[in-house]
Amino acid sequence: MIAILKAGTPQAQIDNLIHWLEGQGLTIHLSYGDYYTVLGLVGDTSSLDMELLASLDIVQSVKRVTEPFKRCNRDFHPDDTIIEVPGTDVKIGGGNFCLIAGPCSVETHEQIIGVARAVKAAGANILRGGAFKPRTSPYDFQGLGQLGIEMLVEAKKDTGLPIITEVMNVNQLPLFEDVDIIQVGARNMQNFDLLKEVGKLKKPILLKRGLCATMKEWLMSAEYIMSEGNEQVILCERGIRTYETYTRNTLDLSAVPTLKGLSHLPVVVDPSHATGKAKLVKPMALAAAAAGADGLMIEVHNDPAHALCDGAQSLTPQQFADVAKTVMAVREVVK
Ligand code: PEP
Ligand code: MN
Repeated sequence: MIAILKAGTPQAQIDNLIHWLEGQGLTIHLSYGDYYTVLGLVGDTSSLDMELLASLDIVQSVKRVTEPFKRCNRDFHPDDTIIEVPGTDVKIGGGNFCLIAGPCSVETHEQIIGVARAVKAAGANILRGGAFKPRTSPYDFQGLGQLGIEMLVEAKKDTGLPIITEVMNVNQLPLFEDVDIIQVGARNMQNFDLLKEVGKLKKPILLKRGLCATMKEWLMSAEYIMSEGNEQVILCERGIRTYETYTRNTLDLSAVPTLKGLSHLPVVVDPSHATGKAKLVKPMALAAAAAGADGLMIEVHNDPAHALCDGAQSLTPQQFADVAKTVMAVREVVK
């Protein structure tokens, strides 16, 4: 249930109301917008007298939220969430577009520094690179692990770009101290223990859509993170599995406007994993920008033909520079 308070309600009266509601066993999620203050009532509201609440002088309206996701629901928080990457001027959401680029996996010091410099020059504002890799085959390159994170941190020092990398399990989290944004990958979207742990952190989490996840399941996973106190969640559409085999996955671009209607969280799109083909990355990146995405995550490798992982979908730095420029032109047109 949500209660929208009248504009200009004094804080003391808001506090009194919260106290009264908490006395009924509810947890209150408070959101201050430009015009209204919204109270999100989480818990069993079945015995709450909705009419009584609606009749209070300071209450403008009361609405039942039927969706099971509450904290990420736009009804709870009408304004877009803007994620600020600590220690940088990078913002995501609410009209702030982010370009996340870098290799699938961190391979060598030279590779990650070279790619970091190139994508920065092309306009990227966040560097990606996998250190722990979820591979379908146990015989494939599994990532450099801790060393990979150390190399990413060096690339961050060299370029000033904040870094994002994927965590695969709870035990790895202590290694992520210097990582700016933690990625929870598609295969872990419903690893509820991991979601709860990253929910206790104070850094942004990029939550990829599960391989076959519905939007509701995905939002419920965001809810797991947020219910532990971490509200800084970025949703990343990376394609879902369908009966189509020509592309690696099927990019569900309808998820962008749908999620932005349902939720206040930023939504970014990964056209690399969605298509699996470098030549499809540009058209899908442009379409994502036109659909209103808050950013893109694109795999870029200095030598895609020899990449240890996902070379077929990786762009060269030159190709990425062209995509970045054209994406910005599309944003100008649709804004
Ligand atoms: C990745 O971004 O490196 C990755 C493994 O992506 P996904 O979880 O979307 O497959
Ligand atoms: Mn990859």
